[in-house]
Formats: sequence, C-alpha cells, structure tokens
Amino acid sequence: MSMVRSISLFNTLARKVEPVAGASDQIRIYTCGPTVYNFAHIGNLRTFLFQDLMKRTLRAAGRNVRHCMNITDVEDKIIRDSQKDLPADATNEQRHGAMSTLTVRYTQAFLEDLETLRIQRPDVMPRATDHIPHMIRLVKDLEAKGLAYAREGSVYYRIAAFPDYGALAHLDKEGMRQGASEGASGDADEYERDAASDFVLWKAVKDGEPWWDSPWGPGRPGWHIECSAMGIEHLGEHVDIHTGGVDLIFPHHENEIAQSEGCLGHRWVDAWVHGEFLMVEGEKMSKSLGNFFTLRDLIEKGVDPIAFRFAMQSNHYRKLYNFSFEGLKAAENALKRIRAFRRRMEDEGAPAGQGEWKEALDPRQRLAQAREEYWAAMGDDLNTPEALAALFTLISDLNAHDDRVALGREERDEVLAFLDETDSIFAAWPKETGSLDAQVEALIEARKAAKTAKDWPEADRLRHAIQALGIVLEDRKDGSVGWRRA
Ligand code: AMP
Ligand code: ZN
Repeated sequence: MSMVRSISLFNTLARKVEPVAGASDQIRIYTCGPTVYNFAHIGNLRTFLFQDLMKRTLRAAGRNVRHCMNITDVEDKIIRDSQKDLPADATNEQRHGAMSTLTVRYTQAFLEDLETLRIQRPDVMPRATDHIPHMIRLVKDLEAKGLAYAREGSVYYRIAAFPDYGALAHLDKEGMRQGASEGASGDADEYERDAASDFVLWKAVKDGEPWWDSPWGPGRPGWHIECSAMGIEHLGEHVDIHTGGVDLIFPHHENEIAQSEGCLGHRWVDAWVHGEFLMVEGEKMSKSLGNFFTLRDLIEKGVDPIAFRFAMQSNHYRKLYNFSFEGLKAAENALKRIRAFRRRMEDEGAPAGQGEWKEALDPRQRLAQAREEYWAAMGDDLNTPEALAALFTLISDLNAHDDRVALGREERDEVLAFLDETDSIFAAWPKETGSLDAQVEALIEARKAAKTAKDWPEADRLRHAIQALGIVLEDRKDGSVGWRRA
C-alpha cells in the first residue's frame, strides 16, 4: 500500500480540476477554522468533514500532509457576545478576560466535536490572539509597500494597488470602489461582492471593545489579516492547498490573497478548494437564519454521529446537500450493510466448496477491479459517490459469491484489507472488537464520573451518546454497568 496515487482537486482559482502539486514531499494545507463564539452547527461541520476527507485521502494515497487550522478567537461576533454583560467602565483586562472565557469554552466544544466525528486533529491549531504581533508586522509591511494606508487609527488595504485583486472570486473590476471613506464595506469583515472595496486590516478601538497596542494606536485586527499571518507563520511562504466553505471565497480568501501575496511578492497558494453548503429546505444552514442543528442536537435525537459523518462524506463535497433526517437514516442503513459485510468477512463462513455456481467470478480479480475503480473515483476530485458505488457493487458480488462458493480465509483477509484501506478515509467501518468496546467503556466511565460530580446534563449527554452508538446499558447487581449491542 506504499504506492503513491495521483489525486486531483477542483481549484477555484484555475476553475478546473488539477492534480495536487507534487513539488515538495509534504503537502501543506491551511484551513480557515471555526469562529468560537458558540457551538459549531452541522453546516460548519460539513465543511470540516470535507477537509478531513481530503486530508485522509491524500494520506491514504501515500502523501505526507501538514495541516494547519486556525481558531478565530477575536472577531466582531465574538466581541459582541462576550462583552454584552460587562459594565461600560470595564477595564481592558476584564474585556480580554470575558472574550477568552467565551472562546476557550467553545474551542473545547469544537475539539470534542472533531473527536466525536473522527475528524483527525490538524497538526497545528494556532489561535488568532496568540499572533497579534505577527499581524501587526504584516500590516506594517503592507503599509511600507504602499498597499495599505492608515485613517483615524484604522488601517485599510488599497485594492487599486494590487492588480490581481478579484482573480479568485472573478470580480468585475469596473464596479469596485476604492478609498476607505467611500468604501461600502467600511470596517465590516463580511460584505457582499457588490461592495468590493478597500477593506480593513486593523480596526481602531471602539467603546466597549478589548484592544491591543499598535503603531496606529489601540485597536484589534480585522478578520482577514488573521489567516494571512497564521498561514505564513505556520506553513511558510508556499501553501499547497487552502480550504474553506464557498462563502469564504469572497471577501475572505480574496483578501487573504491580496494581503499575503502583497507582502511576499509571489504566489502564496497553489490550489483553493471550497466545499459547498449544507442546506435546509432550500436555504443555507446558518446561525443568523436560525435554521441550524448542532452535533449535540443530533446526538440527543439518537443519531449516530458517524452516520452523519457518512451522510456528508458519501455525497460530493461540491454539491449542495439538503439536510434531512431521512437522509441520515439512509446513511445509517448503508453503513449497516458495509459493517455486516465486514463481520461476514471476519467470520469463517461456510465450508469451502459447498456449492457450485456457473457464473462464478474470480474474487481476487473482482477485488482488484473494485480497488482500481475506488481509487480512480477518489483521485478524481474526491468523487465519493462513485468510489462508494464501487465498494457496494463489490459487496453485493462477493455476498452472492460467498452464498454459493464460500470465500477462503486468504481471500477474506484481502477483502478485509481493502475495507481497512477504505475505512482509513471514511472512518465508519473499523474492525469492531476493541475499538467500539474501548469507545463505549470510555463513555461509560465518563458518565460515571459525571454522575459522581452531579453534572446531570453531562451524564445525560453521555447516555445519549452511548445510545447513538446502538448500545444498551445493563445495570449489574454489583453496581457496575455492562453493555450489549442493541
Ligand atoms: P465559521 O465558524 O462561521 O467561521 O465557519 C466555519 C466554516 O463553516 C467555514 O469554512 C464556512 O465556510 C463553513 N460554513 C458555514 N455555513 C455553512 C453551511 N451551511 N454549510 C457548509 N459549510 C458552512
Ligand atoms: Zn481564514
């Protein structure tokens, strides 16, 4: 399995599917991480699941990956929510304290979500507030190069001085506004395409906000400069793949390019790869529309988080996905089929040579074919629907074959190796003994601890989490808790 396979991805900048560059022996991936002012909703998690799929596919294809995902822990919405209960005369220390209390809590919740969904932890997860000096350095550099200018304690990017501005989002240059005073986007981090204009890099302090010292007076960074600073600091002057949801193409990623390339003087990112939205009844799932679920909501409804993972990953990442509980049910059923097949391959099966079948196939050849089809599809812009179709066809063919002419132990082991290979990406049909046991035991222990600590909501949450794994708890006479599969 040490063979290196070619993987292509759709590059938003080039507007076509391109092979992932192989210049270095390490693929450096930057992901715009969560804004930690609340729980992530499952739309956000769809994007993080697509990134996990991409990263695991590259690793399974024999590539070496270094992944950096930032934590956005200073930003408009975080400030709004963290400062609202503070008195008007609160000190800057108190303001920072309130902000960090909020962001530490939701960073923790986010890490738990990653774990529940088996999303591999990025290699580095820098926090924006740990990189203020890096951001200030970048802004000073842009100012020195004539790409930025200060106005009343804030600093703005001069988009007219960066000829490539708009290349990623394919903006029409004519409509762009220049100059902070006319700039429709003003000091906002988020705005629409038709408001493309000079954007804010550093924001002068306003009443009721935490601040840092800077060459332009007290203030705080704009959102876009955060990712440029952390990306360059942790991945360097060349990034192979930069990812996020499609809503980040403009203005966030467009602005990141202007900042980073303006500073470095050369191309910064090879491939920009964007995942499509999770929708609810035709609308984007979002906090502001209020049409969202968190992962905790799903678990409370008895949904297996891995069925949610599979529902997201078995659909193509560049297609809209309409969320529904029926969709999750279908994913759960598909998983049951793969898991049952896995158990069948683990068992010895009927004695070989029990039956005759005139259309008998050659299981090894069939397996090799499925494996080729699977990798061809995964390599073609992560075409999971096709890759999984190859797996399901293999399952029906081998089930039918095994009914008539039992597969031998060696053949079964080769099939199991392929199931491991596919599971190293989908993380949804692992070998059951051991891994599930350990997971359930750990949850039972955590629930016991929560009960001892009288943390009833947590104990409840864990009970639901155990249920969602399809496990029935059994109270034993000696006070210990056993379990069995439902
Ligand atoms: P945020 O925490 O708001 O910065 O968003 C984290 C990630 O979730 C970003 O990459 C967004 O593009 C992505 N995102 C936001 N809403 C959705 C959605 N409905 N479906 C898929 N991804 C989303
Ligand atoms: Zn970003």
